[in-house]
Amino acid sequence: MTMLLPAVEETASIEARAVSAWFGERKVLDRVSLMMPARSVTALIGPSGCGKSTFLRILNRMHELVPSATLAGEVRLGGDDIYDSSWKLTDARRHIGMVFQKPNPFPAMSIFDNVTAGLKLTGTKVRSSEKDDLVAECLVKAGLWKEVRDRLRQPGGALSGGQQQRLCIARALAVRPKVLLMDEPCSALDPTSTRRIEQTIEDLSGEVTIVIVTHNMQQAQRVSARCAFFLAEEGAPGGIVEEGPTETIFGAPRDERTADYVHGRF
Ligand code: ADP
Ligand code: MG
Repeated sequence: MTMLLPAVEETASIEARAVSAWFGERKVLDRVSLMMPARSVTALIGPSGCGKSTFLRILNRMHELVPSATLAGEVRLGGDDIYDSSWKLTDARRHIGMVFQKPNPFPAMSIFDNVTAGLKLTGTKVRSSEKDDLVAECLVKAGLWKEVRDRLRQPGGALSGGQQQRLCIARALAVRPKVLLMDEPCSALDPTSTRRIEQTIEDLSGEVTIVIVTHNMQQAQRVSARCAFFLAEEGAPGGIVEEGPTETIFGAPRDERTADYVHGRF
């Protein structure tokens, strides 16, 4: 049983197998299977309400926190089933980080303490002598270090929206996750902040497996290697119509509905 976690260190692909999801009686995802390869960026695209956020939340066991929510199928991280009884919720949190649409740093907490906030929650042990280095490293990776290095004791809430989002990325990175899930991380941000986050995603993509939900088709093309197009047809639960290399999804999609969506026809 204790062998599960070391195996995760070696590979970080995340794979959904026949994942279905319900809220109460209502089925919102139907047998979604998707392989999100290690150390690359996968974009989830599709109209509102087709289940992208629900799918993302299933990938780090947040879905089960909704009382009415149920689930079928499997999620495998590096081959291990994250819903296996040997996996605790904190294991999922530690290996699979999440960044949300609205930047949500702890506003009254210092920038420094925001970065380390996830360590305690996930039971990640770091010596206090190593904390300064860890905070600096995470802020460098999130592209925020130069802007905040002289004011680490100031509150996170004093930063601009784009900086707050990069602080949230730094906080997510501090527990050294294998996977980073991002749910429309730029949709509350201006174009300049958006480009900075995209640069950060590009910089991180070699070391972390990234799954990003975006409504911005240019962004999907700029940041992702693979794309999955989600759709919920009227009255039906959401599912993947088509997935593959981003170039194919945008340049030569097999399904007419994919072509219509990526070209803004619905
Ligand atoms: P997307 O992110 O693609 O916009 P969501 O995953 O948020 O889609 O939603 C998929 C469907 O599930 C929608 O019909 C939405 O109304 C429903 N849904 C989402 N969250 C909840 C919830 N907590 N309780 C009940 N229904 C929900
Ligand atoms: Mg959503």
